[in-house]
Amino acid sequence: MEKLRIAVQKSGRLSEDSLKLLKECGIGVPAGNNQLKISTENFDAEILFLRDDDIPEYVQDGVADIGFVGENVVLEKNKETEIVERLGYGKCRLSIALPKGKKPKNIQALDGIKIATSYPVILQGWLKKNKLKADIHEISGSVEIAPRIGLADAICDLVSSGSTLFSNELYEYETILKSEAVLISGKNISKKEQHF
Ligand code: ATP
Ligand code: ZN
Repeated sequence: MEKLRIAVQKSGRLSEDSLKLLKECGIGVPAGNNQLKISTENFDAEILFLRDDDIPEYVQDGVADIGFVGENVVLEKNKETEIVERLGYGKCRLSIALPKGKKPKNIQALDGIKIATSYPVILQGWLKKNKLKADIHEISGSVEIAPRIGLADAICDLVSSGSTLFSNELYEYETILKSEAVLISGKNISKKEQHF
């Protein structure tokens, strides 16, 4: 049978827990490697180490059979993949955060503001559902500094402890998604995945 190809984040918040979970499933990964693709120690599988953002597309295209990635990334990329299982780690929230002094009475008061985010698709969906319009400014990193430099009125970003928001004089105003790591597969589950 062909080897199962498993996509894992190369280095980041999900890497360690994903490899630990694979190990618990009997899929040992040799330590201290720095390769894109490796064969596992005692299982007919290959691990592909990728940026988390690329994992949904690799799984959609069948380059990887399954992948470990944040649900936030799955929803944002909107590829043809299926969530097979929620994994219980990598928990975070995608939230709208505002500068400390700003206290809108309700979410309707957000109408028309400028929001910086790396998650335009999820944010747009939430705005639409709530019949709101906002000016979404997409940036790929350091979203939390946007209000301070006058780039946006608010941000929509991932939060876990809230310490990054706090040190940038922002606070969590409204959670729009609760996320955790998930296992994804392509839409047509193949024989080798069922075997896994
Ligand atoms: P890559 O180099 O692979 O693109 P990255 O910087 O985009 O990495 P990480 O910061 O490692 O990604 O986060 C990976 C995932 O961890 C997030 O997509 C999210 O699902 C989860 N996560 C949990 N807590 C947090 C948090 N406080 N901030 C950001 N991501 C978090
Ligand atoms: Zn990423």
